[in-house]
Amino acid sequence: MSQSHIDIRNGASGACPRCESDAYLTLFQAPDRFDTADGRRFHVIECSRCALIRLDPMPDAEEIASFYPPSYWCESDRSVAGRLAEMYRRLVLLDHVHFVTHDIDRSAPILDIGCGGGSLVDALRRRGLKAYGLDASRIAASRAKSNYGLTVTHGTLADAPFAARAFSTITLCHVLEHVPNPMLMLEELAALLKPGGKLFVQVPNAACWQFLLLGKRWSGLDVPRHLIHFRSVDLEDLLEATGFEVRRRKFFSLRDNPAGLATSIWPAIDPALRRMRGVRENASLRMLKDLSFLALTLAAVPFTLIEAAGAAGSTVMIEAVRRGGS
Ligand SMILES: [Zn+2]
Repeated sequence: MSQSHIDIRNGASGACPRCESDAYLTLFQAPDRFDTADGRRFHVIECSRCALIRLDPMPDAEEIASFYPPSYWCESDRSVAGRLAEMYRRLVLLDHVHFVTHDIDRSAPILDIGCGGGSLVDALRRRGLKAYGLDASRIAASRAKSNYGLTVTHGTLADAPFAARAFSTITLCHVLEHVPNPMLMLEELAALLKPGGKLFVQVPNAACWQFLLLGKRWSGLDVPRHLIHFRSVDLEDLLEATGFEVRRRKFFSLRDNPAGLATSIWPAIDPALRRMRGVRENASLRMLKDLSFLALTLAAVPFTLIEAAGAAGSTVMIEAVRRGGS
């Protein structure tokens, strides 16, 4: 860890969600990347007992909701550029789809939790799988319908209309880092899975080279929307503690790792960040920035492949099996 510890004391605003200790080190302070919080700076701390990294204080549900502008969820765009972007999204999802469908019960329903605009559900359905989506955002659920014609359940896990042991496969991509109590969520997912069922969970990996080299400029931190910053070993420990057995892991994501490095290096040209910040620009400047971002993303591929080969990629996706017999 390259960050300097500027503060060492007992008494964080809340206990660590993994080990319940309130002793911590402050790693750094950072503003919201989307500028939603009026310049406010957020504290990122590391638990002194178990080393889990988290936002402090942990925001309540109302405050968390204020961190997500309506533009957080991709708009459907029927222009030529919009269709090209959609083709790109489909292409870069292929390694996710391959990892998830490698060895699962293809006849049983799959649930994608926090499905956002529905791209993974759509990709799985195109391969003949019975995939369903759940998202807490009404906007995301309506995007899934307008983008892909999907009917996505709108709501949280706690009030979702699913029976216990209803699924043999659940996917959870870039969700767990957004929830204040990840152990509770993993226990709820274990209850939804049949014994022997599979959970695929992907998060940014705080044990990556990008965090080591770039510190708080690493985009995988996404302060303040990411509440917990897992190292891959933290996630594996949590899975093992909540009834799962870790089977496989991958540290490279074609969709996430190169673009994540590009936006860490030059955030001002990232199309998603520009949309979130409401940047005004004419069509030619927009195209120039978009093409520059694409070029930087492609240039980032070799580095991200090498860090992933060293088990230090900027994301980790883990396949875990629910214990309790098949
Ligand atoms: Zn802890």
